[in-house]
Amino acid sequence: MTSDVPKGEKLYEGKAKILFRGPEPGTLIQYFKDDATAFNNQKKGTIAGKGIINNRITDLIMTRLAGIGIPTHYIRRLSDREQLVHEVQIVPLEVIVRNIAAGSMSKKFGVEEGTRLARPLVEFSLKNDDLGDPLLAEEHILILGLATEEELDEIFEMSLKINDFLRGMFAAVGIDLVDFKLEYGRLAEEDGYTLVLADEFSPDNCRLWDMRTGEKMDKDRFRRDLGGEVEAYQEVARRLGISLDAGD
Ligand code: ADP
Ligand code: MG
Repeated sequence: MTSDVPKGEKLYEGKAKILFRGPEPGTLIQYFKDDATAFNNQKKGTIAGKGIINNRITDLIMTRLAGIGIPTHYIRRLSDREQLVHEVQIVPLEVIVRNIAAGSMSKKFGVEEGTRLARPLVEFSLKNDDLGDPLLAEEHILILGLATEEELDEIFEMSLKINDFLRGMFAAVGIDLVDFKLEYGRLAEEDGYTLVLADEFSPDNCRLWDMRTGEKMDKDRFRRDLGGEVEAYQEVARRLGISLDAGD
């Protein structure tokens, strides 16, 4: 663990982040750690400086997505490793968008890694580490009451819009956006709630391949013991125009 963890009230410690109570009611601080896990916690390690980079990349992407009209939990970056967000009730789904077959999709369905899909695939798994995040059909989601039909429609629409935008953004800097995982939450409002994008967007939760060389620039470097994780994460930040020099 890194030594500069803030002193506020810790609400939850996850695999990559810690949540603290925020300065105002209804806010939280997300603190980004260097800890890395894979294969549902069976592989553990650290990637030096990852938390700082992921905080910056998430900041940039959440801000750009808000700019195209995607509602998000994001408020602002507070420091190297901390960002302020609105507290939400997380929808217990991992929403995965895929443009190219890789990882669990290739393994489960026998599709060769690197196969471009006819159109983007939105798939869901249950956000539950103890159960190994099992793949869900829409019917499971509705019948188990994990989300309503209206919420699922919104999740599809927002996820595809996010994919369109981010695919273009990464392509512009020579990176193929292969797949990514999103989480959504319910943001309480006076007259109900709004569904918003929550959590993070970083190379921990997506696959990014260099368009020219095919090099992996994401957590697969850690999962598959390829080495060069820090350099890959730094390169993603650099291409997105983020300066990681001291003093930000
Ligand atoms: P995990 O190991 O559960 O994936 P992380 O290390 O990613 O945890 O820490 C972030 C946790 O905070 C996740 O469980 C995520 O669902 C949750 N979370 C993200 N954004 C919010 C938010 N705005 N309000 C409440 N919880 C959130
Ligand atoms: Mg997480």
